[in-house]
Amino acid sequence: MNAEPGAIVASWLAGFERAVASPAGSVPGLFRADSHWRDVLALTWSIQTVSGAEKIGDALSRHLAHAKPSGFTIDSQRTPPRHVTRAGTKAIEAIFRFQTAQGCGSGVVRLFPEANGDAPRAWTLLTALDQLSGFEDATGKARPRGEAYSRDFRGPNWLDLRNSSAQYTDRDPSVLVVGGGQAGLSIGARLTQLGVDTLIVDREPRVGDNWRKRYHALTLHNQVHVNHLPYMPFPPNWPVYIPKDKVANWFEAYVEAMELNYWTATEFRGATYDEKERRWTVPLERADGTKRTLHPRHIVLATGVSGIPNLPEIPTLRDFRGKVLHSSQYTDGESWKGVNAIVIGTGNSGHDIAQDLYSSGANVTLVQRSPTLIVNLEPSAQLPYALYDEGPPLEDCDLITLSVPLSLAWKSHQIFTERAKQLDQPLLDKLERIGFRLDFGKEGTGWQFKYLTRGGGYYFNVGCSDLIVEGKIGLAQYSDIEAFVAGGARLRSGKTIPAELVVLATGYKGQEVLVRKLFGEAVAERVGPIWGFGESQELRNMFVRTGQPGLWFIAGSFAQSRIYSKYLALQIKATEAGVLPTRN
Ligand SMILES: Cc1cc2nc3c(=O)[nH]c(=O)nc-3n(C[C@H](O)[C@H](O)[C@H](O)COP(=O)(O)OP(=O)(O)OC[C@H]3O[C@@H](n4cnc5c(N)ncnc54)[C@H](O)[C@@H]3O)c2cc1C
Repeated sequence: MNAEPGAIVASWLAGFERAVASPAGSVPGLFRADSHWRDVLALTWSIQTVSGAEKIGDALSRHLAHAKPSGFTIDSQRTPPRHVTRAGTKAIEAIFRFQTAQGCGSGVVRLFPEANGDAPRAWTLLTALDQLSGFEDATGKARPRGEAYSRDFRGPNWLDLRNSSAQYTDRDPSVLVVGGGQAGLSIGARLTQLGVDTLIVDREPRVGDNWRKRYHALTLHNQVHVNHLPYMPFPPNWPVYIPKDKVANWFEAYVEAMELNYWTATEFRGATYDEKERRWTVPLERADGTKRTLHPRHIVLATGVSGIPNLPEIPTLRDFRGKVLHSSQYTDGESWKGVNAIVIGTGNSGHDIAQDLYSSGANVTLVQRSPTLIVNLEPSAQLPYALYDEGPPLEDCDLITLSVPLSLAWKSHQIFTERAKQLDQPLLDKLERIGFRLDFGKEGTGWQFKYLTRGGGYYFNVGCSDLIVEGKIGLAQYSDIEAFVAGGARLRSGKTIPAELVVLATGYKGQEVLVRKLFGEAVAERVGPIWGFGESQELRNMFVRTGQPGLWFIAGSFAQSRIYSKYLALQIKATEAGVLPTRN
């Protein structure tokens, strides 16, 4: 490992090239026993992780004949090979490029020193498809020339073409994207860029309303450098934490600049799939009352991780005479000034709503149902994104992020969680002293895995925990509530917490419930569980072909949406081009 990292990586890549070119057998020798190979479309047309040298050898050998990978070389245009520490382990990390029968790809390899002085073997390998041959990204020198509207002085100009394109009066979109949040915009932009005719529909009256309608003081939780949308990064003078209305207005500008076809105030209520025609029938009603039935070949559900509100069965809530709202119905604290309020649920929504009510002059008690992970927004919640502030360009950071297999991510988040615990210790001690029950996620993996498995169960502290510690917001345990009564919640101690408002910040049902509602039982059965991890090392049914032809899912953070929209778009383009069958 004393040699120059570039030379070590070049030597490994040359060995890998020879191994994949010859009949199987020599591949396992290049990998450590505890190694992982993650392929994102390049060889397998799926997103999958294989662990262990022998299994990697087997899996690779199954795909070599049709994928024909070759030309593995360090990518001199990107971040050069370097020593890094990932998941607490020192390794050499390098970005490389290669070709396959379908297109060109990028990858990341991490090499690990051998104790006996042998040549370093691979600890992790990522192979990801970048561009599909014949359908390369029309950017930079390949940008469109605009001749269609700039040479014929009497013909339709750019605006005429844009307006008529978005109307779909005489054609159907190939893809209907349901939901125009960050996930919908990301996949809409990627598909449009690949020349796939795409329409986004959203039930909200204005692009960006998914952010605009959130609480008054909201700024994004993650720092600006990790939150960019594809193709169009936020301007360099933007604040580190972007306010919600600024994001909302950026979404509007993005739709305009990326020439996305987007129908606002259009609710998607369901669709049926015609197996013979291989297309959907989608009845839609637009804001102006016009009814349209569209026949897209693909539907991408980008309706958010949070689907249908989860309303817990609390029989005595019927006796309560005040107002009961689910967190999704809560808009602003202004109208609750001077009111006694109970907020049930201690995830992000519960805390944020409690703080919003308190700041509006309400008298609030937060009710805890189960132990919750608390992490200060800064610096603790930002620890996992340090890479994005270290210097490599965004594209390289995204590829490096993509290259982290599940088990490394697990280990990394255990380390981040432990570090956050130390940094936040004073606050956590005070919370425990007043009876707040803390939790640090499964095996101490923290908030990220709570998000990836259940979509909640944590709070990024932007001040509410401090208000609780100071006694400005009350705290009660759900198990201490005996019953709801006309004027509030009666505790087992005999005391009553007075309330005129109860907010149920009790989360959302899984996306499979939404699929059942929108597409029916048969489609829900075919698709199965969505989000979270099952047997495999990848999120279930996200960003890949599902059991239902023509139905795809995208959701998640800005970073996830930006990264995975690229690969989801490539798959849809490949099915449209006849390169990839619509079925798994
Ligand atoms: C305070 C706060 C700060 C946050 N900060 C960050 C951050 O910094 N970075 C980050 O990555 N994430 C952040 N998040 C998380 C972020 O809100 C979610 O990850 C994000 O909204 C998910 O995006 P999405 O596009 O998947 O879904 P959403 O933003 O929920 O968008 C879904 C869209 O689908 C539409 N829709 C739903 N059903 C239908 C239907 N049937 N018909 C038509 N339209 C429909 C909705 O109207 C909505 O516009 C933050 C969240 C909060 C609360």
